Amino acid sequence: MAAELNFKQELVGCFGYPVAENPTQAMIEPAFRDLGLDWRYLTLEVKPQDLPAAVAGARAFGFQGFNCTIPHKVAVIELLDELGESAALMGAVNCVVNRGGRLIGENTDGKGFVSSFRELDSPEGKSLVLLGAGGAARAIGVEMALAGVFKITLANRGEVRGRELEALFAGPLREKIRQSSGRDLEVVYAPWEGDFKVPGGSDILVNATSIGLYPDVDARIPLEMDSVSGNLIVADVIPNPPSTRLVREARQKGCRVIDGLGMLVAQGVIGIEYWTGRTPDRKVMRRGLEDVFGQ
Ligand code: NDP
Repeated sequence: MAAELNFKQELVGCFGYPVAENPTQAMIEPAFRDLGLDWRYLTLEVKPQDLPAAVAGARAFGFQGFNCTIPHKVAVIELLDELGESAALMGAVNCVVNRGGRLIGENTDGKGFVSSFRELDSPEGKSLVLLGAGGAARAIGVEMALAGVFKITLANRGEVRGRELEALFAGPLREKIRQSSGRDLEVVYAPWEGDFKVPGGSDILVNATSIGLYPDVDARIPLEMDSVSGNLIVADVIPNPPSTRLVREARQKGCRVIDGLGMLVAQGVIGIEYWTGRTPDRKVMRRGLEDVFGQ
């Protein structure tokens, strides 16, 4: 008797606008193949006004979930059935999961960062300097605080957004952090004028701004490189190109470095776990990205 035939693939994807340069498919589909899963990850251009129809379409097609990227991370919330804890704390969703027909909004960006950080060291008891106050900075700050950093120095070009992020840590999150890490988090807002000087005693420096993102690959972060000592762990969120100017200069100084692919792969691992219940091989995923970036 012939084996049972099944031509129906399970679907996930990414909704964004613009989205053509989003490389996520290049890491997720190789991971599905490696796991022996007949799943597809579709890169879907969804204009802001079409988001409600796109989410209804995902429900109609039985998507197992989807990622949301710019500009949908906040707008998608009212179209979902429920939010996971991180997404509710941050007010942003980057990964939607179909759990028994209900669409649940999760945020894996910060969890991915913490997971890639843990490959080098424990966040516990460390002092973090965070450059930027957008979605990526918010996600990294919240999850690193829950993971036990004791101090966050925040710097952002625009003071209003910087102060908003500072205020987030003073709200209900404060008690959550106390419960999770067993200590009070110290948050310091540092105005960013001219070249930023990393305060002495810092352990971790994260660029969570979009400075250096393709095509502005030579853009320089206003940063006093003499204040970046070799014992800092330096992370850059920029995935394209992975070897940013900051990544290169920090490596030259002997710092331990996390590049933007580290965070991208780690949040993708969590997304695949949410969607399929299986743990993918992160080396397969990183190779998929390195292939497209010619690394
Ligand atoms: P947002 O637009 O929400 O935030 C951008 C941040 O960058 C703001 O803090 C902004 O400051 C700052 N910024 C932009 N240009 C400059 C500049 N010339 N000088 C100083 N500050 C500047 O974007 P996201 O937070 O969502 O994304 C930021 C970056 O993170 C993107 O490049 C994205 O690709 C990357 N990212 C990477 C991920 C990964 O897995 N590797 C995951 C998510 C994001 P201001 O408030 O003053 O405008």
